[in-house]
Amino acid sequence: MQPTHLSTDLLNHAFSAFPDGSQIGSRIDSHIDSQGDGSQISEKTSEKISESADTDTDTGADNCTSAVASVVDLHCHTTASDGELTPRELLLLAKSVGIRLLAITDHDTLAGYNELQALITQSPQNTALHLVCGCEFSSAWQGVGVHIVGLNFDANHPRVTDLIHYQQAARASRLAKQLKQLAALQMPMTVEEVSAFAAHQNIGRPHIAQCMVAKGYVDSPAKAFKKYLGRGKLGDMHQYWAPLPQIIDTINQAGGIATIAHPAQYRMTRSKMHRFVRDFVGFGGGAIEVATAGQPADQIEKFALIAKQYGLYASIGSDFHRQRRYHPMLGKIAPLPKDVIPVWHGFNV
Ligand SMILES: [Zn+2]
Ligand SMILES: [Zn+2]
Repeated sequence: MQPTHLSTDLLNHAFSAFPDGSQIGSRIDSHIDSQGDGSQISEKTSEKISESADTDTDTGADNCTSAVASVVDLHCHTTASDGELTPRELLLLAKSVGIRLLAITDHDTLAGYNELQALITQSPQNTALHLVCGCEFSSAWQGVGVHIVGLNFDANHPRVTDLIHYQQAARASRLAKQLKQLAALQMPMTVEEVSAFAAHQNIGRPHIAQCMVAKGYVDSPAKAFKKYLGRGKLGDMHQYWAPLPQIIDTINQAGGIATIAHPAQYRMTRSKMHRFVRDFVGFGGGAIEVATAGQPADQIEKFALIAKQYGLYASIGSDFHRQRRYHPMLGKIAPLPKDVIPVWHGFNV
């Protein structure tokens, strides 16, 4: 699939490097990204990409005025967790917007990554895109639910397999507790009823929200989150997840880099964020997402400073879930500042 909406020059630049797709490391700076920040396509071109990728919806995170089409996206989701595209559809989208280095980071599962890796291995024409093993693990720090993205680790490492089993059991326990609490508020639902909305995905709060709408308890999934399931509400439970040190240690043991996902979303005060990052580094964490979709420039600068202060690699990821208006679009991310070290410099590939 050729991204025909891109200019010939950009196409040549984006797809001529790494013809065998076999090496990333520091070469990505000199060959893919002359800015050294994982981004190279102008805002104007980015808009063309959005229009071309989906003519019915505005796919960008519209509040991010500095977003460009990045050739690196290290945070996105498929139908294996709570995304709307299958791994195959995500691969087509990634290629259409010119992604060269991609990590699928589904919640507490490697099913999407494994499926896409098999697709890429089977199809020689897919070698222009390098897929990095990734997973987004839920955890908690001092009562705050946090997400840690593991990047570039051994998908078959036994400790990773154990951790994923642990997290999936935790997800089941959490669901039972959530449904018990909602039943106490006269909104009874069974696990089977909620599962019907999850298909083969990990069951999560989005599926509870859909079930609540179907049963007439709320008008929309958004209202379900606002009133019952969102951050700080009764369905928002994180005491079941594996402890932060265990998750970081597992990622490290499997040869990967533990990365703080979307740090701005935790709404921590400055001093609390620094305490969190200090603990994260103490546990062996190695990177922080400095640029995420829709993130204003001052926030990018803030997390770049934290990365430099604590010696962390800087990551870049959209947290793409679906092609909808006001939702993060794959690859549409502001560039990393030039004075941070991109996380792919730590990848042994
Ligand atoms: Zn997350
Ligand atoms: Zn995510």
